[in-house]
Amino acid sequence: MGGYLGGTQVFGPGVAMTNLSPLLGTALEHECPRCHKEVELPLGELCQDCIAAIGMRARKISRYVALGTTVPFAIYVYFRLPEDPTLRLLGISTVVAWYIITGLVTKRILLEVFK
Ligand SMILES: [Zn+2]
Repeated sequence: MGGYLGGTQVFGPGVAMTNLSPLLGTALEHECPRCHKEVELPLGELCQDCIAAIGMRARKISRYVALGTTVPFAIYVYFRLPEDPTLRLLGISTVVAWYIITGLVTKRILLEVFK
């Protein structure tokens, strides 16, 4: 059956698929592997709705993880550092940096886990 007809690959009577880049070997999926919605995607990719849903879930959980580790760390820093204003400021900036970095790393890990 199949063959080429002027850049269009013919799979059978009445069934044709435009071959956009035969040299690049772009493989297309016709449904999202996660939600099974009908949509054209490169092989292994998820649809926009799934990417948005995964991003939202990862952001939400990473916020809780960052907060859950920052609070004990802030308490530890508060009681361990001496009453020096410079050290207090250093402690506060370390706690803020801890919150931001923990949130970013957790989000990145969760984005890979949820895929
Ligand atoms: Zn999807």
